[in-house]
Order: sequence, then C-alpha cells, then structure tokens
Amino acid sequence: MPMAVACPTCGKQVIWEPDSRWRPFCSKRCKLIDLGDWLDETHRISESLDSADGGADAEHWPSLDEGDVEPRH
Ligand SMILES: [Zn+2]
Repeated sequence: MPMAVACPTCGKQVIWEPDSRWRPFCSKRCKLIDLGDWLDETHRISESLDSADGGADAEHWPSLDEGDVEPRH
C-alpha cells in the first residue's frame, strides 16, 4: 500500500513513490508556487526596507524639483 503525503501547497494527496517526481508537492506547479511564496516573502521584506529609504528620498525630491523649476522661471 503506497504512502501518501499532503501537498504543502494545495493539500492534495500525493503518493510517495519514485514516479511522483514533485513530491512532497503534487505537481511542478505546486512546487513553483511554494518557491514563489518564498520569493514573495523576500520581495516584501526588501520592499519595506526600500520604502523606508524611499521615504527619505521622497523628502529630498520636492526641494530638488523647486530648485529645477525656479531657474526656468
Ligand atoms: Zn498541490
């Protein structure tokens, strides 16, 4: 009787056997989704760090814009 595990992504039963090449995932897609979640997580963390930097930048930009606009007057 084959052993079955639940796919970490969708919870579908995956038969644990050499033919199930994506185990413990049920398919390549579920494996990629799981990897994608990791990437999203990393992206989200770096994004929040970026926006902290971006906030400081955003404070600089308006004064730079004013400096650009004034000579053109
Ligand atoms: Zn799955």
